[in-house]
Amino acid sequence: MRGLILYLLIGGLLPNAIFGQIQYIHCGSLVDVENQRVREEMTIVVEDNLILRVDDGYLQTDNEDINVIDLRQMTVMPGFMDMHVHIESESNPKRYLEKYTLNDADVAYKAHAYAMKNLLAGFTTVRDLGGSGINVSLRNAINEGLVDGPRIFTAEKSIATTGGHADPSNGNNKFYSYDPGPESGVINSAEEARQAVRQRYKNGADCIKITATGGVLSVAASGLNPQFMEDELRAVIETANDYGFHTAAHAHGTEGMMRAVQAGITSIEHGTYMTEEVANEMIKMGTFYVPTISAGKFVANKARIAGFYPRVVAQKASEIGPQIQNTFAMAYKKGVKVAFGTDTGVSYHGDNADEFIYMVEAGMPPMEAIVTATLNCAELLKQDQLGIIKSGYYADIVAVKGNPLEDISVLKSMDFVMKDGKVYKSNE
Ligand SMILES: [Zn+2]
Repeated sequence: MRGLILYLLIGGLLPNAIFGQIQYIHCGSLVDVENQRVREEMTIVVEDNLILRVDDGYLQTDNEDINVIDLRQMTVMPGFMDMHVHIESESNPKRYLEKYTLNDADVAYKAHAYAMKNLLAGFTTVRDLGGSGINVSLRNAINEGLVDGPRIFTAEKSIATTGGHADPSNGNNKFYSYDPGPESGVINSAEEARQAVRQRYKNGADCIKITATGGVLSVAASGLNPQFMEDELRAVIETANDYGFHTAAHAHGTEGMMRAVQAGITSIEHGTYMTEEVANEMIKMGTFYVPTISAGKFVANKARIAGFYPRVVAQKASEIGPQIQNTFAMAYKKGVKVAFGTDTGVSYHGDNADEFIYMVEAGMPPMEAIVTATLNCAELLKQDQLGIIKSGYYADIVAVKGNPLEDISVLKSMDFVMKDGKVYKSNE
């Protein structure tokens, strides 16, 4: 056994902790997201990558092998989760050229750097909703402990229809135009929809993302039109269910959004022109809403800078972007289930916590905003060891100085980040 452990250590296959390593984390305030209350003066006992138990008071020890972490001046929370990021990319004025200028290796290095920004901002889990497949490789490398980063659940490549949002040949001239086909996630029938989902399974995706309506950043006229027929939606979702995938639909326009909800989609992303009728249908179907207010604000701001986006994109960005926060306010008031998500990659990696501020501005109490970024995301992902500080859960723990329940903006300056029992940031 000792030989095996030594082998694993030398082989670098044991990323986090030595077997049986115990850590005590002294928490001044501990946010209990299950009961939506704060507990004072607690100790979290961590063994390896798991939470062993949570005790009242500050547990003391003479054992020098036990690592004691002092967060008595901090508010401690479960690691945050962001249900909408694009880990491979980040907005910049040259973004539309990058498909011709970057090699896969360039994208991979950038993706790793972006992933670290998410982790150090306190986002210990992210759901990546669309890239090239490098997202799958990065997830694997992180899971194997070869590189650091947040837990990644990825859709690999989004599924679109011809000319739709996430058709990779959009905006190309005729010489460079082509039909990407279901293998590259572009479908035009129920049959191709099934093939595209199965291809994502083959490529190692964790979930399926579709673009149910037009999008802001694609070089195409409409950000709102429905882009999937009902039979195509049903084919995507039924096939996804066969493989245990949950499904996410990018949707700005009302008609495409309603079709996706009625077909049984797991989450609506952006939801810009959600009507009360759609909100009611989401409540009935149990659909999650992932708002991405951050992305709306980001694109509306950048659209004012000449040349940041192509003209057709800038126009859509200034119309659609500012709507999302109002939609969120309506959806929250009606009681739609919300899971935290930013569309980071559109906005800058590491700025994820801005979303908390926008949610609170729109009327959600800070405690509920924290619940959307922990408990609700774990429910969306169907992960029963994430999102709570509790015995048997993964030791994904974050902390800030100050009280986020009084001032939500303190979440923007993260002071402590632990993932899987390993400390990545500590301003003790
Ligand atoms: Zn997105």
